[in-house]
Amino acid sequence: MLAAIVPAPDPSPLWWDLHARLMPDYNRRATLYWWTVVPLGAALIGWSLFSLAGASDELWLQMGLCIAMATLAGFVPVRVAGSTNSFTAGEIFIFLLLLLAGVEAATLASACEALVGSWRTSKRWTSRIASPAMAAIAMFVSGTMLQWLRGALHANHWTGDGLLPLAAIAFALTYFFINTLLVTMVPKLKRCEPLRLREMIRSFGWLGLAYTANATVATFLYLSFKQTGYATVIAAAPVIAILLTSGHYYFRRKEADEALRTSREAEVERTRQHVLALETSELRFHSAFTHASIGMALISLDGTIRQTNAALRDLLGLPEPGAGRLQFEQFVAADGSSTLAHLIAPLSNGGSNSLSAELQCLHREGSEVWVAVNASFFSEPASLEPCLILQLQDISARKRAEAELHHIAFHDGLTGLPNRHRFNEHLSNALARSSTDPSCCFGVLFLDFDRFKLINDGLGHAVGDEFLVQASRRIADSVRTGDVVARLGGDEFAILAVDRGDTAFVFTLAERLQHVLRQPFQVSGTEITTSASIGITFSSIGYAAPGEVLRDADIAMYKAKAAGKARFAVFDVGLHEKVAARLRMEGELRRALAEGSLGIHYQPMFDLRSGYLCGFEALARWTHAELGSVSPDVFIPITEESGLSIQLTDFVLRTACLQLKRWQTADSSFAGLKMHVNISGSDLATHNLVSRVALALLSARVEPGHLSIELTENILMEQLESAIGRLDDLHRLGVGLSIDDFGTGYSSLSHLSTLPLDCLKIDRSFVRNLEANSKEAAVIRAIVLLGTSLGKQVIAEGVETEAQRDELRALGCDIGQGFLLARPMPAEMIDELLASTLQTREADVFKRNRSGARRGRSAHLPATRLPACTS
Ligand code: C2E
Ligand code: CA
Ligand code: CA
Repeated sequence: MLAAIVPAPDPSPLWWDLHARLMPDYNRRATLYWWTVVPLGAALIGWSLFSLAGASDELWLQMGLCIAMATLAGFVPVRVAGSTNSFTAGEIFIFLLLLLAGVEAATLASACEALVGSWRTSKRWTSRIASPAMAAIAMFVSGTMLQWLRGALHANHWTGDGLLPLAAIAFALTYFFINTLLVTMVPKLKRCEPLRLREMIRSFGWLGLAYTANATVATFLYLSFKQTGYATVIAAAPVIAILLTSGHYYFRRKEADEALRTSREAEVERTRQHVLALETSELRFHSAFTHASIGMALISLDGTIRQTNAALRDLLGLPEPGAGRLQFEQFVAADGSSTLAHLIAPLSNGGSNSLSAELQCLHREGSEVWVAVNASFFSEPASLEPCLILQLQDISARKRAEAELHHIAFHDGLTGLPNRHRFNEHLSNALARSSTDPSCCFGVLFLDFDRFKLINDGLGHAVGDEFLVQASRRIADSVRTGDVVARLGGDEFAILAVDRGDTAFVFTLAERLQHVLRQPFQVSGTEITTSASIGITFSSIGYAAPGEVLRDADIAMYKAKAAGKARFAVFDVGLHEKVAARLRMEGELRRALAEGSLGIHYQPMFDLRSGYLCGFEALARWTHAELGSVSPDVFIPITEESGLSIQLTDFVLRTACLQLKRWQTADSSFAGLKMHVNISGSDLATHNLVSRVALALLSARVEPGHLSIELTENILMEQLESAIGRLDDLHRLGVGLSIDDFGTGYSSLSHLSTLPLDCLKIDRSFVRNLEANSKEAAVIRAIVLLGTSLGKQVIAEGVETEAQRDELRALGCDIGQGFLLARPMPAEMIDELLASTLQTREADVFKRNRSGARRGRSAHLPATRLPACTS
């Protein structure tokens, strides 16, 4: 790149290297110029030295003095104020030398002075060499011109000294022009810029004036010297020094004044700008304040409202400005927690400069307005009294949405009552209160409806929901204000009787609840009668967490259910273990059902008159891994409460039908055998009971007439209205229906004639105490009479003794079932029983009159040999 700008004049590497190092910024023209000026200057210096070779000693003395003075003066330049330019008094002596000793001496002196000057001001060799050369050229040319002028004046006999200053001025201007031209050419050539005379004079004109002044001084010194010799010159030196010093101080002073003036002006300007900025900012603030879409207020620290904007006036219904002093507190809802004092306390403590809070305010017309407030200190420039600037944003809509969400989260969607979560909160508070103040004891009631599942499954969910809504109203109306009623889920409700730990009060409440809930409900045109079981616990037990309270009230509720429902029970600590065991058992039962590990025993039934075997009752059996055989009286209620009974019934129905088919086909004489299967209340409530029964019959290919469904009298009476259609369907299918445990329930005898029933099974409690002419005998006789008059079969359960059997037979009871006749037994033993029955019949052909038990074959065989029923 450098090669392109500066083609080397000599291609030798040394020259190139030197040029690149010394003149890296010199282009071709500048280089040429430099190389023209420097040799020319050097030639003139050489020529001057040569000319002065034979000069007198005095001339050399004059030269030496002037060069010394000029050089010395060069060390004390006088810088012109406000510029970077300076001049020295050195020229005075050089010009003096020019007048005294001629152009050669002046050329040498100016070269020396320029060398010293450039050595001081520049570090570049190119400048240090070129400056003396240019000074020599300028002095030589202008000096020669002066001499020529003096010669011309002399030749024209103008010898008076009066013209000399004029000639000196002309010289000085020429010298200035040539010198400046030579110096200015270098940067112009380097930058390839044209030379402009006007610009040159504007930049260096002061130098021309300085030269002119110096030349004038030198002329007067020269003229004095001519008259008085060295004395004048020596005397002039301190004058010049004083002049220079004065000039120096004058310029410095001027500069200092100028600097002061400039700094003052700058200060004034700064202040002006500051004031302007403040005014603009205030204007902007005012505009922002007035037109802001959020409410804004300036408030004194004592709470007086000083200024408000339109948005705030709208928000809080504040009067227009100037309507008198108002306190901000007037518009803050008085809940005590969110006063202005509270709000600004952290600000006053110096904790922070601004803070945000949410305040519940009051519109002037009384409505509540929630606002997000941002407060910060503010000093009004006019008063300098600190105040608060508040920004208030309406967040009422958000607060409303939050409250709604909160309500949804803590309330039951159906009844609107608090939910379990909310109830637990109340319970926590009650626990906290009772732990600090023993007088704040409480009672908790856990309420569960006894037949809700039936209502829901039998009448549909819509009816179930409506029932729950009505029931929840009755419960809520029965408690005191302050007590908490919650729906925990399903048909479970909880009541917290706050500050009432006395049992009498809580028991009365439980009784009141049971009473109001026992009254019939009218739901979607259907009358529903139900009852509730209530578990109660008290804070006196010493609870730590709400979960424990509810758990124990729940356990007590189960106790109430187990004790026969429609009652209340109080928690006692021993209940825990029972409940845990029951829950464990439920899990195990569920697993056993899923794995198909439940069993079925079949208890034969005999015709009491003929002694023939006429059928079986299928009875579920569960052998627990640890507990061994678990009684159906224990596990059947568990299946009902845990929703497993449908699964159990299906299993028994399917297995018993298949088994019956096997036995019926074992011998033609067994074809009339029947199977009785028990169903639970939940089965009766399911709408697909008929199809489930039909499916079991179909898959085992059993005639419907050979199956009898047993349901207890209690179940039948509980679901009489809803079940009647289903019972009709079963009857139409051809399946027999037996009322189990007959006599223990409260069946109105009028129903018996209308219901499609086939069989009454007399409860074993009547048989147990059956003796001739006893009360039980009268009951059984009545039942048998009723049955036969309505065309229904009568079966007696629990026949344990021969006396009972005989008495039953005497009372006209058709069929008997009991340990005396046969115990419930596994299917394999029935196989044996049937096989032995066949053998016995064959043997009877030969030994018709012999009778006796074949106890050796089976412990469960009837005491009386009873041949299979063939009817
Ligand atoms: P249940 O329907 O009244 O069944 C007759 C019960 O009386 C059976 O008790 C049987 O073993 C017992 N029993 C038979 N003869 C005599 C006797 O001479 N004396 C005495 N004291 N008892 C006798 P188990 O098998 O313990 O069944 C109890 C109850 O469990 C049954 O009463 C029935 O209500 C229920 N149950 C049994 N299996 C099932 C089932 O598969 N489904 C349903 N839903 N309930 C069942
Ligand atoms: Ca039964
Ligand atoms: Ca029974």
